[in-house]
Amino acid sequence: MKPVNSQLAALGTTIFSVMSALAVEHDAINLGQGFPDTDGPQDVMKAAAAALFDGRNQYPPMPGVPELRQAVADHDRRFYGIAAEPSQVVVTCGATEAIAACLMSLLNPGDEVVLIEPLYDTYLPVVRLLGAIPRLVRLDPPDWTLPRAALAAAFGPCTKALLLNTPMNPTGKVFSAEELDFIAALLARYDAYAVCDEVYEHLVFDGHRHVPLMTLPGMGERVMRIGSAGKTFSFTGWKVGYVTAPATLAPVVAKAHQNLTFATAPNLQRAVALGLGKDESYFLDLAAALQAKRDRLAAGLETVGMAVLPCHGSYFITADIRPLGFNGDDVAFCRHITEAARVTAVPVTAFYDGPEPPRHYARFAFCKQDAVLDEAVARLAAHFLTDADKRRR
Ligand code: PMP
Ligand code: GLN
Repeated sequence: MKPVNSQLAALGTTIFSVMSALAVEHDAINLGQGFPDTDGPQDVMKAAAAALFDGRNQYPPMPGVPELRQAVADHDRRFYGIAAEPSQVVVTCGATEAIAACLMSLLNPGDEVVLIEPLYDTYLPVVRLLGAIPRLVRLDPPDWTLPRAALAAAFGPCTKALLLNTPMNPTGKVFSAEELDFIAALLARYDAYAVCDEVYEHLVFDGHRHVPLMTLPGMGERVMRIGSAGKTFSFTGWKVGYVTAPATLAPVVAKAHQNLTFATAPNLQRAVALGLGKDESYFLDLAAALQAKRDRLAAGLETVGMAVLPCHGSYFITADIRPLGFNGDDVAFCRHITEAARVTAVPVTAFYDGPEPPRHYARFAFCKQDAVLDEAVARLAAHFLTDADKRRR
């Protein structure tokens, strides 16, 4: 038999599926794959249910139902002052498809793409499948500050695009205004595009502010931004994503989408349109609730002995496992706690491709009920703390 696609054949199963399967096998609390353990807003759910019963169950319009394209444009204007028309919005099957569609819309084989490590696991495979060449720039813990000289050095005459994730998974970093200015200047200097994965746009804490790169001067014509109802409304299984793109690029993104999935479920699109129109309090309450969960889990992991890194956005915290004295790397650690303590996390090396990544960080998702977070901490404490430790604490 002739070989199948060699790049796909060489790819392992995503760490999220691997760790979730291991969690099920060991009846572990799954703080690995990022998904909330409660439903999102009831009115959005009811709208999705009701929308099944009014006769719009056939193929929706390819770029998205009009209600949702309008709602995304309105949302972008309300929160960020972005003046996009509904015709500049493409609705996709989750942000995952949006990322692929945006990259497809830009890249020809041989184009270079600048990516920032640690990075979400679909970015590199898609860039490579398109025949483009990744240029990786690495952020270093614990601050994950943008290394400006390294970023500038990654740009060159063949740079077609930068892929930026802010708020960032798995680091919890929210790129600062100064960092975004620096990135914008590079994009302008090298006439490059940016694909901005902003799925955690509303999950920002401690007074940090999410600023879409698209809103910076001159960036409206070269930046596409991506959102996800999975994150903004806690319905990760719905797979409703959306892209806001410059008028010249949106039709090309739509052509990519037309050949990937063509459309996503119409009732869910209509429900998400309702969600995006919710009062500002919904979005603020979501962030406040998650900030409290972050603090709860961070405090718990610290009692167990881990050193928790700052997290300003997303629903993940990264913990340094070295203080526990565990004899093994992050992969062994995450497997060990799943089997022995029945709590699952994700090894942060899964977000690296380049040589010598840090091997002592585990990522924990805190988008869970308080009782579940407490039980996870109790299990880790029972496993790692001696009786003397427990009496002291
Ligand atoms: N980008 C990032 C940074 C993510 O963390 C995720 C998923 N959690 C996605 C994209 C994919 O989003 P979706 O589930 O909407 O496809
Ligand atoms: N984005 C989620 C995470 O980082 C996982 C998404 C998936 O499993 N495809 O945990």
